[in-house]
Amino acid sequence: MARHLACLTFDFDVVSAWIFRGMTTPTAISRGEFGLVGAERILALLNRYDIRATWFIPGHTLDTYPDICRRIHAAGHEIGHHGYLHEPPAMLSPEQEEAVLVRGIDAIRRVTGQNPRGYRSPSWDLSPRTVELLLKHGFQYDSSMMAHDDQPYRARQGDVIGNDGRIQWGTQTRLIEMPISWSLDDFPHFEYRRTDTGVQPGLMRAGDVLDNWVDDFRYMVQNVEWGVLTYTFHPQVVGRGHRMLMLERLIQAIADLRGIFVRLDAAAEEFDRRAASG
Ligand SMILES: [Zn+2]
Repeated sequence: MARHLACLTFDFDVVSAWIFRGMTTPTAISRGEFGLVGAERILALLNRYDIRATWFIPGHTLDTYPDICRRIHAAGHEIGHHGYLHEPPAMLSPEQEEAVLVRGIDAIRRVTGQNPRGYRSPSWDLSPRTVELLLKHGFQYDSSMMAHDDQPYRARQGDVIGNDGRIQWGTQTRLIEMPISWSLDDFPHFEYRRTDTGVQPGLMRAGDVLDNWVDDFRYMVQNVEWGVLTYTFHPQVVGRGHRMLMLERLIQAIADLRGIFVRLDAAAEEFDRRAASG
C-alpha cells in the first residue's frame, strides 16, 4: 500500500548561528531572538493539526532557553543534535568536532534525559570524520546530505577524492541518511543576508515557494510507493505572518495528498524496517 511521509523539521538556532558568525550587535541578536516568537507560533500550529515534528537544537539554545526547549520535548516533538554554537563540522579540527558533539549531546540530555538519535550539521557541511563520530556516539541517523530527495539511504564514510578528481569510494555504514536540500529549506528563499562575498536576496513571495514545496510532495506521490520528504524550517524565518499562513497551507496540501506527518526518527526507523524485510 502506498505510504508517503512528510517530516517537518525546525532548526531552532535562535542567537547561536549569529554569534558563531561574529554578529553580536543588538540588532543581530534580536534577529535571532525572533526565533522564540516563531517557535511559539509553530508549537501552536503543530498542536492544532496534531503533528509531531523534529527540532534540531544547538546546545547553546538548550542552555540559554531551557524552558521552551522543555516544552518542545513535552509536546512530543523529537529533539535532534545541531552543534553547540552552530559550528559546521567541516570548519573544526578532529578534537574540536568531537568535543562539540559531546557538549551538544550533554545539553540535550539535560532537557530530555536521553541521548539524541538524530544529527543535522549546522550549515549542512559534514567533515570527512563526521559519519564515524556519529556512529561512535550512538546516532541512528544524519540529516545533512543531498544524494536523494525522497528515499533515505545509508551514509558512506572514507571517500578519498584525489587532486585530479579520481575517487576511491568509501564503505557504506549503518548510519541512515535522511536527505535534505536547499530548495526545501526556508532560509535561502526568505532570509535577506549580506555577507563579505555577496548578498542572499531571500524575501521570496511565499505562495511561489509553497507551489514548489507542494509539487515536490506531489511528484513523490506520483512516482514512488513509499518515500519521505523532509522540509527544513527555522522559527526565526518561517515565524513571520505570511510564512506561517504558507506553512499551514503546506500542511493542508500534504494532508490532501494523503501524506502522513511523522518525526524524522520514526521515518528513519520505518526505512530501517523496510530495508530489513527486503
Ligand atoms: Zn542551523
